[in-house]
This record gives sequence, C-alpha cells and structure tokens, in this order.
Amino acid sequence: MAGNSSLTTSILDQLTALGHKKVVFCNDPDTGLKAIIAIHDTTLGPALGGTRMWTYNNEAEALADVLRLSKAMTYKAAISGLNLGGGKAVIIGDSRKQKTEALMRSYGRFIKNLNGEFVTAEDVGTTTKDMEYIRMETQHVTGVSESIGGAGDPSPITAKGVFYGIKACVKEVYGTDMLAGRSVLVQGIGNVGEHLVELLRKENVDVYISDINEDRLQQVARKYKAKAVDADKIFTTGADIYAPCALGATVNDNTIKKMKFSIIAGSANNQLLDENIHGQKLLDKGILYAPDYLINAGGLINCYSELTGFGKKRTMQLTEHIYEATREVIKLSKMENIPTNLAASRIAEARIAAIKSIKSSY
Ligand code: NAD
Repeated sequence: MAGNSSLTTSILDQLTALGHKKVVFCNDPDTGLKAIIAIHDTTLGPALGGTRMWTYNNEAEALADVLRLSKAMTYKAAISGLNLGGGKAVIIGDSRKQKTEALMRSYGRFIKNLNGEFVTAEDVGTTTKDMEYIRMETQHVTGVSESIGGAGDPSPITAKGVFYGIKACVKEVYGTDMLAGRSVLVQGIGNVGEHLVELLRKENVDVYISDINEDRLQQVARKYKAKAVDADKIFTTGADIYAPCALGATVNDNTIKKMKFSIIAGSANNQLLDENIHGQKLLDKGILYAPDYLINAGGLINCYSELTGFGKKRTMQLTEHIYEATREVIKLSKMENIPTNLAASRIAEARIAAIKSIKSSY
C-alpha cells in the first residue's frame, strides 16, 4: 500500500510541477488498450493534441513523454493565436503489431467520455485511418480524410508557415523580406521539406538539400534544381539559413560550433537539444532562431480549421499570421536581450494569463 500511495503522490507532483489540469489513464483488457491522455491547460479552449503510439519501456516513461508533449501543445496553440488548450495522448504498444480497429475505437470511447475537453489528431504511430476509427465513436477528433470532412494533409500548410517564419527572420537580419538571392539549407526533404523547397525555389532562393534517403535526395534536387549536400557537410555549408525539417536536437554544442548560418528556421520539433542552454548560445553567437513550435504550427492550424469548420482561406490567413507572430517574438527578444525561445514562451504565457483574467467575469 505504501508503494501505491507514494506512486500516486509522485504522479500528482509531476502534474503540479508542469501545471497539468488532468491526466486520464485508459485501460481496456478486452482490446489491450493502455493509454494515457494528458490535458495540460484549457484556458483558451479544448485541449488539442495528437495521439502517439509507441513502445515505451515502462509506464513512467510514457507518462513523462505525454506530460512534456501536452505542455508544449499549450504553448504552441497560445502563441499561434488559436483558441485551443494543450493536450496529448500516448497509447503504449507497437503500432505495427498491436493496433486494431477495436483498440482504436475503444480509445475513441475514452475520448468521448471527456465530452470535448480533449480533441485528438494523428501523431507518430497513428494514421488518418486510425482517426476515422476514433471518429466512429466520437466527434472529438481531427485529421480525418477530406472525403469525410477533414482538412487533409497538413504538410503543405506546415511548410507555408515555416516559409513565413523564414521571411520574418530574413526581414530582421537583412532589412527586407525578399528572399531572392538568399540561400537556405533544408535538412530532410520529406513531406514538409519538399513543399518548403518548392516555395523557396519559386522565390529564386538558392536551395541546398540533405536527406539520408539518397534516391529521394537526387530526385528532389533534379525536380527543383536544388543542390544536394552530403550529411557530414551540412553544418559547414555557406547557406544563410538552416531549415531543420527532419529530426530534433540538431542544434547542440557540437553543431553550433560549426555553424555559419545567420538564421535557423525549420519545421522539426524540439530543434534545441537543451532549451535552457542552446537558445542562449545561439543568441551569443548572433544566430537568429525562429522557435520551432511557433513556425511549424501550420499542422495545428489545419486541425483547428477542421474543428471550427474554417475554409482554406481562413486557414491560410492564420498561417500567414506566423510572420507577424515571429516578428513579435524577435522584438521581445531584442528588447529584453533574451533568447527567442524564451521570448516565445513569455508571449504564450501572457496570452493565457490575459484570457484567464477575462474569464473570471461573468
Ligand atoms: P517526413 O518523415 O515526411 O520527412 C522527414 C525526412 O527527413 C525524410 O525524408 C527522412 O529521410 C529525412 N531524415 C531523417 N533523418 C535524417 C537525417 N539525419 N538527415 C537528413 N534527413 C533525414 O516528416 P515530415 O512530416 O516532413 O516532418 C518533418 C519534421 O517536421 C518532423 O520533425 C516533424 O515532427 C515536424 N513537423 C511536421 C509537421 C507536418 O505537418 N508534417 C507539423 C509540425 C512539425
């Protein structure tokens, strides 16, 4: 019993430490479903976040992941000006072996019982098809296919948001947001990366690309007249801008040392290995960093549009707003002489606090 009570205390302590409102543990032995839904903050609206299916080593690891990711969603929605809170869910298991219709629909019923406090979408290990199974049980899901009223593939919207983030940074560093003649290195030319390459080439940007998939690399290089770069040379290319669109943590002690870029602005999540250290190192080195969760918010904006019934025009307007939002972050960072990632958090927190205060009056 003592063990159980200390476990309970420690979970609640974790919620308190990160400021979470609620965590729901879902257990359905009939389908094998074991999931955790974390609702971080709902001041601005329902907590929206993807459902990740992953083979965690243990429940503590799954809980730590869902708490961290759901908090990040609160900040992302807030800084993007969306009326959404932050949430996330993880299903513990191997998505290739353990996922069934029954398991996803059972999970959908847990979401249904939250009565709209949590809305989900795709993430690592889940697909549009899975969202459609959830939709059979509840309306509180986005990312279903266009044929049944969904907003479709978010990648082009995400790329567009990154493009506006890059423009805002270029304006700051070069005094104009015209991109022609600038050079950008896009690392990872997957769904988002390729769309970004296309947008940049249309503006006559010199584009360098890198990807571990050699066939794709050569194919995209030919298609857009971009220059393929070997993986071991990327941090020494003379490009003005580095756009990480593959993995997280590529901005770290080792890479910052080598970097000659003026700007870092890309779609990958968690680009800074350590938020507290590497944002400051970039500031010290004079490299302007566009906070990842701000400029890659196009995917979330797409989900928001699906939820609210906004059309493509409104989706694009919200995505274009990433330009202004990035300018605001840069302004605060300069004014206070703080890293841009910290400036972004402060703006997000201020918006949540302001809206919380108006909700206290009836
Ligand atoms: P993707 O899987 O389609 O593309 C990733 C690409 O990166 C692949 O082509 C892969 O071969 C390449 N890659 C992997 N490791 C690499 C390495 N070490 N060096 C170079 N290339 C490497 O993914 P995506 O949907 O294009 O997303 C890209 C990034 O943006 C991810 O970090 C994702 O979490 C983030 N993101 C995506 C969206 C979206 O709408 N798709 C939204 C927000 C954030």
